[in-house]
Amino acid sequence: MAHVFFSFECTFSLMPDSSLHDDAVLEAPEADGFGTRAVHAGQQPDPSTGAVMTPIYQTSTYAQAAPGEHKGHEYSRVSNPTRTALEGNLASLEGAEHGIAFSSGVAGIDAIVKSLRPGDHVVATDDLYGGTYRLLREVFEPLNIQTSFVDMSDPDAVTDAFTEDTALLWVETPTNPLMRLVDIEALAERAHAHDITVAVDNTFATPYLQQPLAHGADLVLHSATKYLGGHSDLILGAVCTNSDEWAEKLRFQIKSTGAAPGPMDCFLTLRGTKTLHLRMEQHCSSARRLAQMLNAHDKVGHVRYPGLPSHPGHALAQKQMSGYGGMISFELADDEMDKALAVLDAAEVFTLAESLGGVESLIEHPASMTHASIPAEEREKIGLTDSLIRLSVGVESFEDLRDDLDRALSRV
Ligand SMILES: *Cc1c(COP(=O)(O)O)cnc(C)c1O
Repeated sequence: MAHVFFSFECTFSLMPDSSLHDDAVLEAPEADGFGTRAVHAGQQPDPSTGAVMTPIYQTSTYAQAAPGEHKGHEYSRVSNPTRTALEGNLASLEGAEHGIAFSSGVAGIDAIVKSLRPGDHVVATDDLYGGTYRLLREVFEPLNIQTSFVDMSDPDAVTDAFTEDTALLWVETPTNPLMRLVDIEALAERAHAHDITVAVDNTFATPYLQQPLAHGADLVLHSATKYLGGHSDLILGAVCTNSDEWAEKLRFQIKSTGAAPGPMDCFLTLRGTKTLHLRMEQHCSSARRLAQMLNAHDKVGHVRYPGLPSHPGHALAQKQMSGYGGMISFELADDEMDKALAVLDAAEVFTLAESLGGVESLIEHPASMTHASIPAEEREKIGLTDSLIRLSVGVESFEDLRDDLDRALSRV
């Protein structure tokens, strides 16, 4: 799906789509814009009552007319109508055949890696979500699934890490928290030449800004806890894929190991995705302006935001993404942990908290919070410094966010 790249203010796609009529939205062939799918895909008025919003089917089991004769659902670990609606919605947004929802993002990652076999090898981004690192290192290494962590901004380094046992390439882009860009298409080509499955954690970008399957990935992972849910009020994960075989494996994992999301969280995620496109426009626009402000600030050192022309992945972002996202990380001019902590302490509109992707702005210190599970020497190796601060830019008034950061930085 091609939406035009926005390089300055990102508001033009908020224009109403005049080709849509109120009746006939779902079936009309032209009604396939991102916003239309965000609002409608996977859902229809409830067949039993006409309820426009998909109900929260708070049930574990379903009446059968005769043994094995049912309306598509038998037991809610396996499937549930609220979850099915969400899965259809997420699949549509990622341009995928299948969407599979999990009880959390890490449950989705776990199900993918658990589908491998002992002796298989994984190559993963070296700068990635701390929980993914912990899962690969502390849960799967003892089960003899080894992982090599590499800087994927150099595609050759990735190929060099392949062994004859490599079965999975785990990509995060933009990376967390260093905001590096990884070329999905280039890596997918190299991995597929060796029959390696390519999974992309698309949590930071969301399908509104980046569609990894269109760039050759086999699996897309989401922590819907973040932008898809969008309101910091749930934990949920999802995998989207065009592979029938992978979809079957992952559904088998949920059925067998139980990482199913509850209907309430599925409902909340569906409510969140309806406004994903609107929220992302605002996240992108405010983050871009804040990144520029930080970049010009004398208390600030290196600013990591793909929308800055100085970012090494800027050109790749323009090729691979349709906007630069709402996440920024930056170092202080004086790279000292105490000073970073003072900024966190002084921020008021930005809440000091882990996580990201909600309507509210968050500020955090990766070295002592989200990425504390990565050993200090590993952090140093990848350039995750002690003064690094990560921002999740929310949808509050831009001026208040700007003034809050400016005030906090003046304390340093
Ligand atoms: C939060 C996050 C996860 C894990 O998701 P949970 O829903 O917290 O289990 C995975 N990847 C990224 C990039 C994340 O930010």
